[in-house]
Amino acid sequence: MSPETQDGPLPHVRRIYYERDSLDWPATQNILTRLSHLPVVEIGHYKDVFNRPGQHFQTQKRSPALILAVERERLIYDASARIRSWGAGVPLYYNAPVRNCLFNCDYCFLQGMHSSGNVVLFVNTPDFMQEAAERAKRKRIVLSLSYMTDLLAFEPLVPISRQWIAFADRTDNLEIEIRTKSEFYGAIRTLSPSESTILSVSLSPAHVAAHYERGCASFAGRLFAVRQAVEAGWRVRLCFDPIVYVDGWEEKYERCVREVFTRLDPSRIEEVSFGVMRMAPDFLSRIRSVRSDSEILFYPFVTEEDGASRVATYPVELREHMRETMHESLRRHMPDDRIHFVHG
Ligand code: SF4
Repeated sequence: MSPETQDGPLPHVRRIYYERDSLDWPATQNILTRLSHLPVVEIGHYKDVFNRPGQHFQTQKRSPALILAVERERLIYDASARIRSWGAGVPLYYNAPVRNCLFNCDYCFLQGMHSSGNVVLFVNTPDFMQEAAERAKRKRIVLSLSYMTDLLAFEPLVPISRQWIAFADRTDNLEIEIRTKSEFYGAIRTLSPSESTILSVSLSPAHVAAHYERGCASFAGRLFAVRQAVEAGWRVRLCFDPIVYVDGWEEKYERCVREVFTRLDPSRIEEVSFGVMRMAPDFLSRIRSVRSDSEILFYPFVTEEDGASRVATYPVELREHMRETMHESLRRHMPDDRIHFVHG
């Protein structure tokens, strides 16, 4: 699928709300021009729309509004406790230049976090960058850009990833991660591969991608895109996360891993992370109330407690079996020290 159709970028967006203050930012002007065929409504604050009571996440998701806003509160979050990927020995942060996603994975935690399926896009990218640069002044940091969305999917509309790639290149101590389930590598392919940018591509067996990662690129599409990125010289990591318990999961994931490493040279992949399905228990119960059509959400999960944090996941015997099975598959292709199990 092309990132841009003849209806323009983001074809299923139905309306734009913009904060009065966002009009001062060039990104707002550009987006309003690009999407001039859509109705627009001026608002005072994005939360007036986004946090409105009585919304239905999945109904809005089918045809969301795009809300252009200025982030005034949190420009960066400490992610060390939440993103335990890569076993990184440096501080991890994430930010949220966009809240909510154009894709619609059954297991997406955003359904439990937000009561609205509309998309908020913060237009003050330079403020986010300034905050990241402040943290990077003191020591090297890794910043995950796409924690609450799939940022590459917005690239045809607003080149946030491209701006960040250029920014990371000229900022000492800053490494950025762009995580995607899209096949929109094409949106950045004209750039030179950046030493400061890691493309983290999430892969799932074709069956899981087709049934439970709605709107995302197919397994074959993602694999094709990631191969192009690798061949062009980008730094690439792979994520098999979450592993979903479906009929025949052992065989499906084993075949998926085999196919990935038939197409990709393991020596060109920096690291691989994997983890089983898990989420905060309160998110899970909220998601179940809006996603009764998805059987994978109704597995009898157990709740694990680790200090103050609680996570709903598969029972420990099953989780360990899934971990071992997947680890075994991955070890056939990658050295063990470049494989990380994630359960945070
Ligand atoms: S791609 Fe990520 S952010 Fe988007 S719906 Fe899927 S899990 Fe959520």
